Amino acid sequence: MKRIALLGATGSIGRQALEIIEAHPALELCAAASGSQPIDGLAPITQAGGDLTELLERAEPDLVLNAVIGFAGLPATLWALERGVDLALANKESLVAAGELALAAQRRGGGRLIPVDSEHSGALQCLEGRPAAQVHSLVLTASGGPFRGRVREELEDVTPSAALAHPTWNMGPKITVDSATLANKGLELIEAHFLFSLPYEQIEVVVHPTSVVHALVRFRDGATLAHLGYPDMRVPISYALTYPERSVTPIRPLDLAGGMTLEFGPPDVETFPLLAYARSAGERGGTYPCAFNAANEVAVAAFLAGRLPFLGIADVVAEALAAADGSAARDLDDLVAADEEARRHVEETLKVA
Ligand code: MG
Repeated sequence: MKRIALLGATGSIGRQALEIIEAHPALELCAAASGSQPIDGLAPITQAGGDLTELLERAEPDLVLNAVIGFAGLPATLWALERGVDLALANKESLVAAGELALAAQRRGGGRLIPVDSEHSGALQCLEGRPAAQVHSLVLTASGGPFRGRVREELEDVTPSAALAHPTWNMGPKITVDSATLANKGLELIEAHFLFSLPYEQIEVVVHPTSVVHALVRFRDGATLAHLGYPDMRVPISYALTYPERSVTPIRPLDLAGGMTLEFGPPDVETFPLLAYARSAGERGGTYPCAFNAANEVAVAAFLAGRLPFLGIADVVAEALAAADGSAARDLDDLVAADEEARRHVEETLKVA
């Protein structure tokens, strides 16, 4: 029996994870947490809000599924990595913000870090067991979101509800807006850098509108492996929860004979500059990725609240990055300070505007 602590139980990932756990006789939910919604009775130990590491201490799970949204997921990520408890990571923000600290914690703890992000789950499966020296490059695919093909002028009056209508993936509001701005792919680029120890120049992002190919790895001999599947988060969730077993899911097999066209193209970073800002923040290193994430979180919340236009999200993130000090975090306190500084900067900008 694998005892699972589910953090973020009421979100999109959390609800799909519950379905997977319920259907699998060898998976047991030992604890569950939500951000604020009451979840009494969902698991033997439950918690709404508060310090999630207290819940984890009491639950003693074999695996933590971290599906908290944003920087708030960081303490749980570090808790699991430090103790060698397997971590299924759907909270990409914690790895983006705290990459070096998280990997150092994993080296000390010795547990597994299994990505739940579909692209990274796919990449892990293409890369697994193959020496880094054989890898030419990793390709992450992006659907392009609901505004693919539009130019800047056409995005001036975009509403939150238009941004929330994702063409292929059904997800929560924060990540859906991030998909519309391509900030999500920027976060995923940084996430991939840390997960797979690849330099940024070896990670490419391409637009692939139908989201059937999730990731590709090019090898030095000219061969390329790709990971394909219908866009359904239950597949990477199941893979992470049952790794390395790869258990049965209700997802239908890929139908190729029925006709399938796979299209790829370059991302439009003129219209969606957050992808370029993320790459630059990643390359500069230090706490720049943390500042990028923090500024983006505040900007997305402001957009959803009607306080910031769609194109303003990228503008305020750029300003926060320009103002950030960016020096490397020695510890969690440094990181929290960098996160708070970027948040404060965006809030100030919003007040003036
Ligand atoms: Mg993804």
